Amino acid sequence: MKTIENYNFEGKKALIRVDFNVPLNDKQEITDDTRIKAALPTINKILKDKGSVILMSHLGRPKGVSPEFSLKNLVAHLSQLLGREVKFADDCISEQAQTMKKELKNGEILLLENLRFYSEEKKGDEAFAKKLAENIDVYVNDAFGTAHRAHASTTVVAKFFPEEKMFGFLINNELKSMDKVLREPGHPFTAIIGGAKVSSKINIIINLLDKVDNLIIGGGMTYTFIKAQGGKIGNSLVEEDKLDTALEVIKKAKEKNVNLIFPVDSLNADKFANDAKTEVTKIDEVGDDWLGLDIAKNSIKLFNDLIEKSKTILWNGPMGVFEMETFAKGTTQVAKAIAKATEKGAFSLVGGGDSVAAINKLNLADKISYVSTGGGAMLEYMEGKTLPGIKAIRE
Ligand code: AMP
Repeated sequence: MKTIENYNFEGKKALIRVDFNVPLNDKQEITDDTRIKAALPTINKILKDKGSVILMSHLGRPKGVSPEFSLKNLVAHLSQLLGREVKFADDCISEQAQTMKKELKNGEILLLENLRFYSEEKKGDEAFAKKLAENIDVYVNDAFGTAHRAHASTTVVAKFFPEEKMFGFLINNELKSMDKVLREPGHPFTAIIGGAKVSSKINIIINLLDKVDNLIIGGGMTYTFIKAQGGKIGNSLVEEDKLDTALEVIKKAKEKNVNLIFPVDSLNADKFANDAKTEVTKIDEVGDDWLGLDIAKNSIKLFNDLIEKSKTILWNGPMGVFEMETFAKGTTQVAKAIAKATEKGAFSLVGGGDSVAAINKLNLADKISYVSTGGGAMLEYMEGKTLPGIKAIRE
């Protein structure tokens, strides 16, 4: 198989699907360039080989062409990061874009306009993908964040390069980290799954029951599990239609000898607000008018002890409403415990927008073995699903 490491790009025009879906403020300035930086190793390798680079990405969720979602807003910063001029085509498939692709010289970079200005992108339209593939020698997919979508630029375009296709360094690293955790974890293996809903995490929980030693549940979905077991949860978040699912998970965990751990105490609030009145109770004794919004001291200690003894750690989803300072401690302390365990030699993988945000806010990214760039894509891979963007390169 051709790989980004062993392929010689000299004299080749490489079309790279990157994930430049970065946050912009209302002046269209980039507020976090992590995703752009993540694509640099692949771009630089191709330029070093004396190939030329054509970059394509989506940005936001535009409905048709709209200037606030233009990738032109990224040109200056990208050019600065690469230390080279970046040309820009203000439409991704126009005649002008085709000419610019054709005339691009070795060592030059061209960024195409937002793919999602065309509805054909998300529909996976073949004619649109064919136009993207015109005047190109080799296709590189390095957009992990959209690898779970069968879009024109992430999946369909690959069929026009039956031999000349590969992953970039970013996707390679993502796959390596996830496969390490799924296929050859050091033990004890502890997964910490948090977030709002059982329904969005149930598939990953089920898949992990075959692999982990400890499965820690936190966040809003805890209360569905507690209610299912007869506990009192007051006005905490609950999915009434998932009570049976919760009991099923508890049963399966027992059968598979997985240590399924719930919080033992709850930080409750009298309203959903940072300045709410708070009190701590046992997890199954939340008062009638109260809502559990974070894990409390004893749970933090219980979780941290397990995390710090682990050799493999997977974390997805916050332990509480961490967006509010008053309810951020559970999430913060879990992040710190994972960093500590990693320092002691554990392999840690953190994914999902909120968990990654917590890690970044605490400046702990360097202390985690791998911080994933793809929330939904990582979740689906960890559920055991085949991602269309991954399959399109491998088959
Ligand atoms: P998810 O997208 O499913 O990972 O859920 C993340 C969201 O869950 C965050 O916005 C948190 O504020 C929210 N969350 C975490 N714990 C709770 C809780 N105890 N009650 C309500 N929402 C929560």
